[in-house]
Amino acid sequence: MPQVSDADLSALRSELDGPLFERGDEGYQPEIDGFNSLSPMRPDYVVGATSEADVQAAVRFAGAHGLEVSVQATGHGSYRGVDHGVLIRTHRLDSVTVDPAGPTFTIGAGARWMGILPHLGEHGLAAVTGSSPSVGAVGLVLGGGIGPLSRTLGWAADRAVSFRVVIGDGSVVVASAESEPDLFWALKGGKVGLGVVTELTLQALELTEIYGGGLFFAQEDIATVHRAWLPWAKSLPESANTSMSIVRLPPVGVPEPLAGRTLAHLRFAYVEQGAETGALSSRGAELLAPMRAVAPVYIDGVDVMPFTDVGTIHAEPFGPLPIWERGEFLDDVDETYVERILEHAGGDVEAPFANVETRLLGGAIARDAALPNAIGGRGAQFSLLTIAAVIPGVNDQALPVAGPALYDSVADYSHDEINYNWAGHPSPEVFARLWPADIAARLAQVRATYDPAGVFAYGN
Ligand SMILES: Cc1cc2nc3c(=O)[nH]c(=O)nc-3n(C[C@H](O)[C@H](O)[C@H](O)COP(=O)(O)OP(=O)(O)OC[C@H]3O[C@@H](n4cnc5c(N)ncnc54)[C@H](O)[C@@H]3O)c2cc1C
Repeated sequence: MPQVSDADLSALRSELDGPLFERGDEGYQPEIDGFNSLSPMRPDYVVGATSEADVQAAVRFAGAHGLEVSVQATGHGSYRGVDHGVLIRTHRLDSVTVDPAGPTFTIGAGARWMGILPHLGEHGLAAVTGSSPSVGAVGLVLGGGIGPLSRTLGWAADRAVSFRVVIGDGSVVVASAESEPDLFWALKGGKVGLGVVTELTLQALELTEIYGGGLFFAQEDIATVHRAWLPWAKSLPESANTSMSIVRLPPVGVPEPLAGRTLAHLRFAYVEQGAETGALSSRGAELLAPMRAVAPVYIDGVDVMPFTDVGTIHAEPFGPLPIWERGEFLDDVDETYVERILEHAGGDVEAPFANVETRLLGGAIARDAALPNAIGGRGAQFSLLTIAAVIPGVNDQALPVAGPALYDSVADYSHDEINYNWAGHPSPEVFARLWPADIAARLAQVRATYDPAGVFAYGN
């Protein structure tokens, strides 16, 4: 570990408004704890930033002492084992300002969708979010960001207006279409090694209601529903969004009718900006009707909902949880794919996963944005995501076997690229698939320009 004296730490502490902890200090562990309680975070130092100046001081300190910098807002993406360097926690930087005239909104590095949506809702506005409202908006956008409405509305990063970023030498730059355009391009999908984003401005859109939610089907109907879902999903117009998930719910911590059950969870969202509530409801219901008829619906939670409830469509847990996760981006899938998913996770097998989700992509996700960006995986047609809460003695032994077996069985369907937000902590092999070669090469140049000394951790 590089030499850092007590005097160096005192000097840093005097520059910071927020807390600084050294490994072993009281307060260190609560400061690094995040969504994933399995996350192997053991940095030498953790800075709880309360301002952009704190981030600058932490980056300069790291640069001066040859320490690597990692960033954590919520811990939803912290699969990377950090055992050295400086971790900058941004969760206190959770400001949200809406400019209804734009319409745009500006958020701090630590803002989560659940803190942002009510502010947008006050103005009848919406944004492209991810599936879980507890995810950090900046982390999601840096990877591209697709959510329950993205077939209609595209990627979250497609709506980025500007980023304030602390770069490798500790200075602050504003990246937008007019200022530092290469960095602006890279921050939309390039995710890592580019600096610490302290503030992000995104376009908002006028949307108050959607027709959406989830249909749950009983365990014995999982195969029927999954088989019917695929051709139905492929027939949907771009205004409709869907995913199919086989969920195994815990006996406690979820509402009674779901507790301890294995179910099919069909997620659906129909989006039509400017539609009257009645028309939204009838057009959405018409599209969903074939799936409501395919088997008895155990719980029907699809209806007109305020956009601010978008996070209830996937109904993902807020954590902290001991999370195992793996994902893949896929080309077109067929009935054989469905059979393979059912073999590994269907209602009649013992599977260690909490959630095996196939999401329909395409539509606006596949179209190039108005402004170029570094998003990887735009051309995929489906995604697969598996999540488990690791419970010793229950599924911890099975996961390392069942996880690879499931992914091996559908390997033929893999898309060339996998998007970073689906890649967990990418192995070198997966890292090489995050972007097409030309984008990866350009990203490497941008990283070298804004972080020539390699202060920011990435890809290792
Ligand atoms: C339950 C769940 C649901 C999800 N759903 C979706 C989804 O629907 N769509 C989707 O696209 N993704 C989804 N993701 C993936 C998620 O978007 C990424 O993991 C994202 O990076 C999480 O950001 P975070 O800040 O919440 O997490 P953190 O673990 O705090 O951060 C993850 C990484 O983001 C980067 N980062 C975060 N903040 C900054 C910053 N200020 N400056 C520079 N780098 C930063 C860093 O590389 C950091 O390691 C989901 C993840 C989970 C666990």
